[in-house]
Amino acid sequence: MNIHVLDTRQLGHRGIVAATALETNAGLALFDTGPESTFDNVVVDLAQIGFNPTDVRHVFLSHIHFDHAGAAWRFAELGAMIYVHPRGAPHLIDPAKLVESAKRIFGNDMERLWGRIAPVAAERVRVLEDGDVVELAPFSIRAIATPGHASHHHVYHWNDCVFGGDVAGVRIGNGPPIPPFVPPELHVESWRESIAKIRALKPKQLYLPHFGRVEDDIDAHLDVMDEKVAHWSEWFREKIREGVSEQQLVPAFAEYEHVDLRKGGASEEDIAGYEAADPSYMAVPAALRYWKKFHPDATGASA
Ligand SMILES: [Zn+2]
Repeated sequence: MNIHVLDTRQLGHRGIVAATALETNAGLALFDTGPESTFDNVVVDLAQIGFNPTDVRHVFLSHIHFDHAGAAWRFAELGAMIYVHPRGAPHLIDPAKLVESAKRIFGNDMERLWGRIAPVAAERVRVLEDGDVVELAPFSIRAIATPGHASHHHVYHWNDCVFGGDVAGVRIGNGPPIPPFVPPELHVESWRESIAKIRALKPKQLYLPHFGRVEDDIDAHLDVMDEKVAHWSEWFREKIREGVSEQQLVPAFAEYEHVDLRKGGASEEDIAGYEAADPSYMAVPAALRYWKKFHPDATGASA
């Protein structure tokens, strides 16, 4: 099986954001595209493995955040079909709301980080429900609804491979897997159920958008993920109970996460990579919203 981890080299950094290509008899399938700003880099990577951008006939999106789906419209313009969760599809076809909410997080940094944002033509979007299969001989590629990081998240399963999206973790350099907590859809219980779903597939190969193939034991990787989703969310719950402010939580969580990363084997350079792939400050509004919305009693917020 010919599978290629393409490095988008976002903002010049290697090993942070991947687009993963699978050779099929029905053309190249791409799992996530990277942001639009790195489209040209992906074109260079494709040339290195002997393909043109027009050879990409199928794009499977784990979810629609810009680092995963930002270049989907470019491939759609070249004739690719874009597969996405039902709740993601409307935002590909009309990205206005998505842009609006992203601007709240990234402000004027949008263009530099993600490049140009444009709609995908509706006829190039195909919605995949949980369990739907796309036959791309010799592979049957199954979408599996896996909320937690985002409510509209799919992983994709074929043979003994899983493309894990962000719900399967971020893992940079020699560091451990960590759960990217981002607003506004973090949901801890769903995330843990999604990890159990991936585990039940018994994959022999797991590919991550951040970054690449998991080289060691996949069960152990999933154990660490499950533990961190639980521990990180509990850490936030305790801090909210203690009345720590959102402003104070940003440096406090960065410190907590970095200690955790070092313990897991990450170098200082790796830690910078984690911050590039998944900035720790984003976990703060994500976790605050999660606890207040779903468990207001647990934090004493309603007392
Ligand atoms: Zn991501």
